[in-house]
Amino acid sequence: MVSEMGEYQLKCPYCSKTFPDDYTNECPSKCGLIRAAYSQKQLTVRKLPGMFRFHDWLPVMGYIESDAGSVTYKSLELAEELGLSELYICFNGYWPEKSAFIKTCSFKELEALPTSLRLKEHGGGVLQVSSAGNTGRAFAEVSAKSKIPVILSVPEKGVKNIWTTEETEDVLMYSVSGDYTDAIEFGNSLCDIPGVIPEGGAKNPARRDGMGTTLLDGAVTMKRLPDWYFQAVGSGTGGIAAWEMSLRLIADGRFGNKLPRLHLCQNEPFTPMADAWNKRLRDIVSDSGEEVSRELALDVYAGVLTNRHPPYSVPGGLFDALTDTEGIMTSVKTPDAKSAGKLFEDTEGIDLDPAAEVCVASLIDAVDAGTVNNDDYILLNITGGGYRRLIEDYDMIPLFPSASLPAGSTNETVRTEIVEWLKNYERG
Ligand SMILES: *Cc1c(COP(=O)(O)O)cnc(C)c1O
Ligand SMILES: [Zn+2]
Repeated sequence: MVSEMGEYQLKCPYCSKTFPDDYTNECPSKCGLIRAAYSQKQLTVRKLPGMFRFHDWLPVMGYIESDAGSVTYKSLELAEELGLSELYICFNGYWPEKSAFIKTCSFKELEALPTSLRLKEHGGGVLQVSSAGNTGRAFAEVSAKSKIPVILSVPEKGVKNIWTTEETEDVLMYSVSGDYTDAIEFGNSLCDIPGVIPEGGAKNPARRDGMGTTLLDGAVTMKRLPDWYFQAVGSGTGGIAAWEMSLRLIADGRFGNKLPRLHLCQNEPFTPMADAWNKRLRDIVSDSGEEVSRELALDVYAGVLTNRHPPYSVPGGLFDALTDTEGIMTSVKTPDAKSAGKLFEDTEGIDLDPAAEVCVASLIDAVDAGTVNNDDYILLNITGGGYRRLIEDYDMIPLFPSASLPAGSTNETVRTEIVEWLKNYERG
């Protein structure tokens, strides 16, 4: 890799401290989310595979040989249906007819690729990821492709969502009875074992900048920043990422100087960020408590949108992104999401992830409400889709847990196995 392409530092936007990348995901003074500061102030789209064409603004030095990346195109049929003249669809999933090759069918693979590579380049050790579905599958697929090992902690009900399209021996998976939060707690206990590194979630600049390539692909296709960025959110990381990349594109100078307004949505009945934002509250207050929100979350059609502890309040998090972009957050009912998904499939011709259906419904609502003008430049982030298209071309190879543990377990019963397994990956 040409060295000038890989140059960046980490920077805390709050205390302005800069530091080299030792796989740190936090400012030493813990001010808020840290960012990557890239030496390239203007974006050059590189001749590299998939999302790595945006290498200038990814915190990695090399790349992974994967053709996974966003594909943005101007909508004709859905646009006509909605009376919009500048609707651009950023598709993240599998749709070979459009050159879209994300085989795990969601934009989580755009997080997994640079995150896995960044750890390999800077930290060493083995990544630990807790997930009930799209994220775990994305990291497993990247591992199958790159041989970068990963340890997954998955709630029992999520195990069926974890598959790859290539055989892999570098994924160690545990299933935990209980919900996603129980899997996270078990996963955290694994990170007490030396050499097991937490992936860091939204704090990890590689995850955010990986997701932010959706906005870059949209802007490069439109040759300008959009007026609106539409996305369905659970953690809000994609919204934060779109905001951060927009700031870089404004500094670039060739894409306009107005931030896109974030138009984000959640799926009823679990809408904590929409509720907080609509009262302009920095803190998510749930008067009903953890148990009720656990129940509500289980009731949601688009399950990936139910993060119970999102990076909303943290400095540099979603509240700040919405404030800076004059953002809007809405809630969508499940029947509306399903009919929007059908409209999308009938007009554009591909099946969607339920979360993406929620997003299409929010666009329909925004048009009906007159929130957007008919000639506004709109980037619609289709965060997942093409599952039915994928099975025409690939097998979904299931992964099996090496142990199933009761909720509340710690690393005790699996520690020896993990320590042995880690020896396969020690640096020579
Ligand atoms: C994770 C996910 C989302 C939500 O993304 P965040 O930006 O992390 O809130 C939306 N759609 C799909 C398909 C996802 O997998
Ligand atoms: Zn700081």
